[in-house]
Amino acid sequence: MQTPLRIEIPPFPYGKRIAVTLSFDDGHTFDRRTVEAFNRWGLKATFNLNSGTLGRSGIKPADGEWKPIDASEVADLYRGHEVAIHTVSHPWLQKLDASQIATEVLEDRKALEDLVGYPVRGMAYPFGGYNQQVIDILRGLGVVYCRTVESAEWCFPPKEPLAWAATAHQYAENPTVPERFEKIYANARYNGVFFIWGHSFEFHQRNDWEGLERIFKPLSGKPDVWYCTNIELFDYEAARRRLVIAANRKSVCNPSALPVDISVDGKLMAIPGGQLVSLAEEGSAPART
Ligand SMILES: [Zn+2]
Repeated sequence: MQTPLRIEIPPFPYGKRIAVTLSFDDGHTFDRRTVEAFNRWGLKATFNLNSGTLGRSGIKPADGEWKPIDASEVADLYRGHEVAIHTVSHPWLQKLDASQIATEVLEDRKALEDLVGYPVRGMAYPFGGYNQQVIDILRGLGVVYCRTVESAEWCFPPKEPLAWAATAHQYAENPTVPERFEKIYANARYNGVFFIWGHSFEFHQRNDWEGLERIFKPLSGKPDVWYCTNIELFDYEAARRRLVIAANRKSVCNPSALPVDISVDGKLMAIPGGQLVSLAEEGSAPART
């Protein structure tokens, strides 16, 4: 192989040009219907839970009940998605002192980790409320990102991951979520993240369960879209930023554990985690399919 002329590190894996990620708060029984639909359509979401309000009886409340899910169903219900911090008791964090902010976040994280069995690193702000002090404490606690209730057309990567704006809320109007998605999807040059947040209970509150399909199904099933949880987006971004490309363009080192895709003179190639790959030798790295 000749020395490549150009090596690019595309923003998403598998050569996908759009990443779709979703975020749902509060963990009521209504999440069951949302998760079931997302699993059917291949959508991935992050569910932000308050460990202090989860049921603790071991008995699952009936479908459609205005109740938090039971702690005993968290691991199974959200498998394949991400469980993230939403604090223990859903306070306005900017009204608390430092020790209570830290306790609300860290105790929620530990309780959720006890339920799901993996490190919980993402978060959404209760009521979308935060200030600089809250951000500083979260950073000290190792929270990777924290979603706000603000909207931004270009939402990723955010300047401040602990004040992360989404693309839009599920019930955004003028344009609606499917209209926004259709527009960016139709633009073949669009290369970005489409990030929708909301609550499953809003479908119930508005007596609009049809909305689940009307709003979210149009985002699904697209071959050039990467469907990912919030933390998968941040983890991939961190891995691609760590990629080291030799200045002579003859080798690439991927020091992270995740495979990272590069485009070598327009040809997609996977650089496996933890490997040094020579680009000057034939067949040294597997082509990405
Ligand atoms: Zn909430």
